[in-house]
Amino acid sequence: MRANRVLVLNSGSSSVKYQLLDMRDASRLAVGLVERIGEETSRLVHTPLTGGGKRERIGSIADHSAALKALAEELTQDGLGLDSPELAAIGHRVVHGGLKFTAPTVITDEVLAEIERLIPVAPLHNPANITGIRTAQALRPDLPQVAVFDTAFHTTMPESAARYAIDVETADAHRIRRYGFHGTSHAYVSRQTAALLGKDPSEVNVIVLHLGNGASASAVAGGRCVDTSMGLTPLEGLVMGTRSGDIDPAVTFHLKRVAGMSADDIDELLNKKSGLLGLCGDNDMREIRRRIDEGDERARLAFEIYIHRLKKYIGAYYAVLGRVDAIAFTAGVGENAAPVREAAIAGLEELGMTLDPELNAERSDRARIISAASARVAVAVVPTDEEMEIARQTFALVAPEGE
Ligand code: AMP
Repeated sequence: MRANRVLVLNSGSSSVKYQLLDMRDASRLAVGLVERIGEETSRLVHTPLTGGGKRERIGSIADHSAALKALAEELTQDGLGLDSPELAAIGHRVVHGGLKFTAPTVITDEVLAEIERLIPVAPLHNPANITGIRTAQALRPDLPQVAVFDTAFHTTMPESAARYAIDVETADAHRIRRYGFHGTSHAYVSRQTAALLGKDPSEVNVIVLHLGNGASASAVAGGRCVDTSMGLTPLEGLVMGTRSGDIDPAVTFHLKRVAGMSADDIDELLNKKSGLLGLCGDNDMREIRRRIDEGDERARLAFEIYIHRLKKYIGAYYAVLGRVDAIAFTAGVGENAAPVREAAIAGLEELGMTLDPELNAERSDRARIISAASARVAVAVVPTDEEMEIARQTFALVAPEGE
């Protein structure tokens, strides 16, 4: 029997998100989440999609190994156990692949060692990803494990976009450059946008706006990323739920010298207490819209700052690409918040972008065009699906077509 299933694992420091997919028809067999790992109140939520309802476990799950065992038990209960010969591989989301990993990679000891070497540039993410990989290897040592890197799609960026204008020796000694993140989403959404236009990805130039709690923009020319808004870390670029995005780097020395803050304090301020949260006390766009409707001025200003930054990136990437065929909104905010799309595109008619208000207001979970029929640039809403993309890339590597 040909093995057709892929388990996708997205391991965070205290959580594991997972999906089991059948690659014959790209269908989901089960999805779930283990959160608050290491606490007394750990929670596992498991939803089989082959029948039967959602199940929940609350109670201490001590570590990632226990989390993986617990999710494996849930899958076994659905007849989808990880010991099944139908499981072809496990695909892992790995946040930072540096410059070395430009494509999905079967994990060997050397690959794992290289992901470890990248910890200094991804201190929050790579250690959790490594723990997830080691745990999964212990569970099924015989099975191919594949790393799919968030940075890989952006490795095609030219040096002119990837380098910071700082001393080259210092930059190279410490691997300081723009890597970009959310690459799996940007790859998937730019390809789906081309499909929505009935074109091959090589024929179209697309600006992708991934607007979730984290947010990033990318300029994709003929299927290849030529610029993206996140940099050495996910802090650069757009205003996000809790991250500042672009900021004068001198703000950091100023905070150190004048406010006596440490590097860790400033890191926490800019990554966790800034963005929409810092500006108005809320990072959920639904709540911000509700407050604006009630006349809340701080929420309105936070929204305006968010939109202003977004517009700047649309304009910048228009200039970088020279010709834009489509602009795609994706992730939690991009897929759901019609007022964000409306405000971001408003006033860009001279760039060929005009929304159809009715299409923009429509609620749907399908990929769709929301621009006016007369507009030169197609504006699209394209739901992202990072797990499906990780599964697709994993399966393509371990079970190439025609084998
Ligand atoms: P993500 O990181 O892609 O899961 O996106 C999460 C964010 O999407 C949340 O913080 C919300 O701000 C936003 N979001 C989700 N649903 C909606 C909605 N219906 N309207 C506006 N924003 C939404």
